[in-house]
Amino acid sequence: MKICVLAFDGLEYNLVEKWKLNSLKQKVYGKYPIPKACWIKTTDFMGNRIYEPWTPLVWTAFLTGKLPNQLQIGEYTLGRRKSKLANLLRTFIIKFGLSYYWVNLRNHLRLTRIINIIAGERETSKIPIEQTFLKNKKHAIINFPMLSDGWSLNFPYGATEKIIIQTYHQQFDNLSKQLLDKLQQPWQILLYYTRLLDVVGELAYGNKLELMKAYFKANWLTYKVKQKLPADTILLVISDHGMQPFKGKYGKHTNYGFWSLNIKTDWKPKTITDFHPKIIEWVNETNR
Ligand SMILES: [Zn+2]
Repeated sequence: MKICVLAFDGLEYNLVEKWKLNSLKQKVYGKYPIPKACWIKTTDFMGNRIYEPWTPLVWTAFLTGKLPNQLQIGEYTLGRRKSKLANLLRTFIIKFGLSYYWVNLRNHLRLTRIINIIAGERETSKIPIEQTFLKNKKHAIINFPMLSDGWSLNFPYGATEKIIIQTYHQQFDNLSKQLLDKLQQPWQILLYYTRLLDVVGELAYGNKLELMKAYFKANWLTYKVKQKLPADTILLVISDHGMQPFKGKYGKHTNYGFWSLNIKTDWKPKTITDFHPKIIEWVNETNR
């Protein structure tokens, strides 16, 4: 069998239900809980203290079937810069629980740009293909966390929420075109990822129209993919966590993710690491 994965960062189960987004729901769908090994205590872009599932760790567990601590991957090892001193300082800040003070000081003094110049931009963290279910499989990757550059975009300090959301919409449109083209090409596993719903959810959960626009776009894309999907292909729609209201207009990660499949099956993921062995099993299955 071939496997096509549509990964929508932050796709919320309850909104799929509420707005009856049937293309996203497919034949079977549900929620799965995110293990605590994929959570971190951190400070969000607004300077709030948060403890929630962390995107790079959840996708690492999805791709490898292992929890990040089994791979020695954590907040320390991700988002590093060229400067060794800057990395050392970062480890110190995380270790002593100072990130809340540091992020607020950095924002207050508008230091982001100068830090990027002195210490180098944050490097995109990656894991080797050999550690993932893509090993020895003919694959296509479109913008996937821990495998691709640019899945999370950098913005200069002071970029407005409107500009950030707009830029992610443009990225979504470009990636959608790439995806629809790639469907016709030869692969055993195709991975597609977009951060649009995560960004809109976090910055504008309270703005129903903005939220609906993004969710209907995701549902539309899934509909188009199904139309062009080669025969004998399993379509997996998945998110790394959902989204709940936070401080009125904003959103915050939930402790569960969404999944759905285009096949009838009794199988259900109990946790994020369950997908890895199942994907290998499916891809090794001869056509049924
Ligand atoms: Zn995420």
